[in-house]
Amino acid sequence: MTRRIKVGDIYIGGGAPISIQSMTNTPTHDVRATVEQINALAEAGCDIVRFAVNNSQSASAVRDIVDRVDIPTVADIHFDYKLAITAMENGISKVRINPGNIGDESRVKAVIDCAKMHSVPIRIGVNSGSIDKDISAQYGNSAEALVNSALRHVEILERYGFYDVVISVKASDTKRTIEANRILAKRCDYPLHIGVTEAGLGEDSLVKSSVALGSLIVDGIGDTMRVSMTGDPIQEIYSARQILRACGVDKQYVEIVSCPTCARTEINCEQIVARLKERYATVRKPLKVAVMGCVVNGIGEGKDSDIGCAGGKDKSAIFAGGEIIATVDNENLYDTLVKMIDERLSDK
Ligand code: SF4
Repeated sequence: MTRRIKVGDIYIGGGAPISIQSMTNTPTHDVRATVEQINALAEAGCDIVRFAVNNSQSASAVRDIVDRVDIPTVADIHFDYKLAITAMENGISKVRINPGNIGDESRVKAVIDCAKMHSVPIRIGVNSGSIDKDISAQYGNSAEALVNSALRHVEILERYGFYDVVISVKASDTKRTIEANRILAKRCDYPLHIGVTEAGLGEDSLVKSSVALGSLIVDGIGDTMRVSMTGDPIQEIYSARQILRACGVDKQYVEIVSCPTCARTEINCEQIVARLKERYATVRKPLKVAVMGCVVNGIGEGKDSDIGCAGGKDKSAIFAGGEIIATVDNENLYDTLVKMIDERLSDK
């Protein structure tokens, strides 16, 4: 098990639920826009939010932002140690900075002293583009190189007795991301922030992130996650949720399973599924609903569900646990199914 660290009021690692992270894309110093986006992300299910602190204006804005949002915040800082210190003094919950990039030891010490004083954890984040040159000369742009580079930064923190650390190693290459995290999980007990970097637009990112993060999560690797997606960060949250659900980690939702449809299909499965998905999108209770195109195979194949329907020529079956519990005219099928689903949900 990984060690547990605290970011604001959220725990990362040590068996805590996998937290979902995202990053704002507003100018950080535009407090109103940034707060608005953070609150929208929180509403969508984001647990921890990061924003770039890339200049003194943004570092000064941290206080105004943290005072107006309800989730822990992370300052993303590249080289300027003073920005890290200002962000921590202004109430940031966590800092992403690589100590090997800060400069001389006195600066590193100043950041670590400040982090200790304010109980702020540090995330070390190494991507393919930020592997130390000597390490990439030795290991190439490989999983080993990502890990060795990250652990070098960690060692600097450890030298100063600082262990409130989260590590991320990310590549845009899915397999390399998986491999690097597997190696890292064996080599240390720090909590891991997992994600694929530069994963692309919507569907491209969702597939890459599902393969990489899904592989890791089902193996028990990963304490906090970000689905990196070009564009509106809200989509990152929806995607992260879908991955956690597909991995069986998040069970608090209405899962709609449906058959692919074929020549035996008697009802408009696609339309029924779309309507059910929309209706139950925000329900946080566990229920599995099956929508199957025919009674020939549907009832048997859908027997794992709590309730389901299987299409017939004029009348369709509603079933539970593989047994028919009602037969209804096709024009009343959706409404009857919804009524029965609602009854089951109200019992939970
Ligand atoms: S459940 Fe019936 S309609 Fe759906 S794919 Fe299977 S055989 Fe075809």
